[in-house]
Amino acid sequence: MSVSDDLDRIATDARQALTAATDAAAVDDLRHELLGRSGQLTTLLRQLGTLPPDERPAVGQRANEIRRELEVAIGERLEALRLTDLEARLATEALDMSAPGRQLSVGHVHPVQTMMRDLREIFHAYGFEVFEGPEIETEEYNFELLNIPPDHPARDLWDTLFVAEPGSVEAGRPEPAQDGTILRTHTSPVQMRAMRALDAPIRVITPGRCFRYEAVDAGHGFEFFQVEGLVVDRDTSLADLKGMLEEVARALYGRDVRTRFRPGYYPFTEPSVAFDIGCLVCGGEGCPACKRSGWMTILGAGMVHPAVLRNGGFDPAEYQGYAFGMGPDRMTMLRHGIGDIRILFSADLRFLTQFGGGS
Ligand SMILES: [Zn+2]
Repeated sequence: MSVSDDLDRIATDARQALTAATDAAAVDDLRHELLGRSGQLTTLLRQLGTLPPDERPAVGQRANEIRRELEVAIGERLEALRLTDLEARLATEALDMSAPGRQLSVGHVHPVQTMMRDLREIFHAYGFEVFEGPEIETEEYNFELLNIPPDHPARDLWDTLFVAEPGSVEAGRPEPAQDGTILRTHTSPVQMRAMRALDAPIRVITPGRCFRYEAVDAGHGFEFFQVEGLVVDRDTSLADLKGMLEEVARALYGRDVRTRFRPGYYPFTEPSVAFDIGCLVCGGEGCPACKRSGWMTILGAGMVHPAVLRNGGFDPAEYQGYAFGMGPDRMTMLRHGIGDIRILFSADLRFLTQFGGGS
């Protein structure tokens, strides 16, 4: 084998290897193998000195030609591979301005909060302002000032969530706090706070969260919302209350909603009434949500008890008032035909996403 043959073989092999190389690293390796310090071509060029003097010029010239040719070919191959790479990246990263946008997840208001917002708007139209109070209350505000005496069943441990006396839980013998701190069982204490803070005429609603130690079933939760209303003024009567509640029912459930007043009992109102709406879940036939009665009580109401007026700083000989309390949870169930209150607070997205917005 002559040096000339070796040169041709190296050039042929190199061209094939270059065509077969699929990435820049492979081409770099090839460059090193051929043209590096101990590369095949470099080594061959060093052997030129062993050739007979008359052969050296021709073989030397040929070797340099091949070297330049391979250098150019390697450069071109690298450029071609770089472009292929770029095309591949462009294909995956290109921005298609005509493509539809990605759906953004947007939250929405919970149906119970929507109901409370609607109530605020309805009452706002009748001149009521929102008055808020604390969720952690005292027994005095939650019970005594509202004419609920210490022996009233509502004050039983089983109905009220008492805050524990400091240290009693750690000692293994939980006791109700001696300062009478409780989780409010209704928003009525806010009415007392409003009476003590405001001058007549008073027209407020007191939306908020309440807590009771209660067995959870299709109609009850241990945590629930209330919206109570209070009016204190001169010449206020039960007729004003009735007219107001019927307007509210129509605003919420439509002009055709069936309503009824029933006698009721609350310690803080006299007389007291229950305000019912025809069950919209079953249409009046009876179902678990209405306890098979065909009616749902959405409101308790009455004329403010004289003792409560006095506790609030008003002379019952001069002022009267009416008060009402409603359950937005139950009203939301009526609005949407929901048969079980527990699903409202289940945090189940299959339920929640039905009320608008994204998931
Ligand atoms: Zn029903």
